[in-house]
Amino acid sequence: MSVDITVLPALGDNYAYLVSSGNTAFAVDPSDERVVRRALEERGLRLDAVLLTHHHSDHTGGAQPLNRSTGCSVIGPRDRRLRGIDRALADNETCEVAGVPITALLVPGHTRSHLAFHLTTEQAVFTGDTMFLSGCGRLFEGTAEQMWRSLRRLGDLDPATRVYCGHEYTEENCRFACAVEPGNVLFGERLRAVGEMRADGRPSVPGTIAVEHQANVFLRASSPEAFARLRAAKDRF
Ligand code: ZN
Ligand code: FE
Repeated sequence: MSVDITVLPALGDNYAYLVSSGNTAFAVDPSDERVVRRALEERGLRLDAVLLTHHHSDHTGGAQPLNRSTGCSVIGPRDRRLRGIDRALADNETCEVAGVPITALLVPGHTRSHLAFHLTTEQAVFTGDTMFLSGCGRLFEGTAEQMWRSLRRLGDLDPATRVYCGHEYTEENCRFACAVEPGNVLFGERLRAVGEMRADGRPSVPGTIAVEHQANVFLRASSPEAFARLRAAKDRF
């Protein structure tokens, strides 16, 4: 059965996602219950589960309300700060939701228990606040070296893998990339293309791992030290 991934803008610049196969679905980072419920109703879908990448409330906000209203299970990292988790996934642990096989990848840096969800049969990955398109999350709990390794781990996925991240920060990230490497023609083209998409109100997601290798200065950083310098510069940008 074919799998559909629907992008659900929420809370300003967050993205929640609905993944459906047949008439069942799961949601990733359901920041806002109403946004997810509306999408389920429009499509006549039953919610099996919600998947949470990390404990920040802009990603988890809709989880408990959806659990109460639909009876769906809640899947996420092993972390005491996440309440109401029915199934905690460890690094490399797999599960199947709505008939879709999922592998959890522990990618610390933004938070210490942050997971990415790799849909191995769909060539898709949900990266939360670890990898953004042309960017990465802030280092709230991890070290630069952890985040650098986490990005490289995501970068090791098949280049055709589509990247679904937690926020629409792409245009700002592309602007930073252009400031870092003013002569990079590809960065300039990418900034223009993303600017057009955003001006038309279209989301920039999904990206691909192949494009990130070309357009993400954080993934391209050759060492943890180089990464740390870029991350510090972005914090001040
Ligand atoms: Zn976050
Ligand atoms: Fe976030």
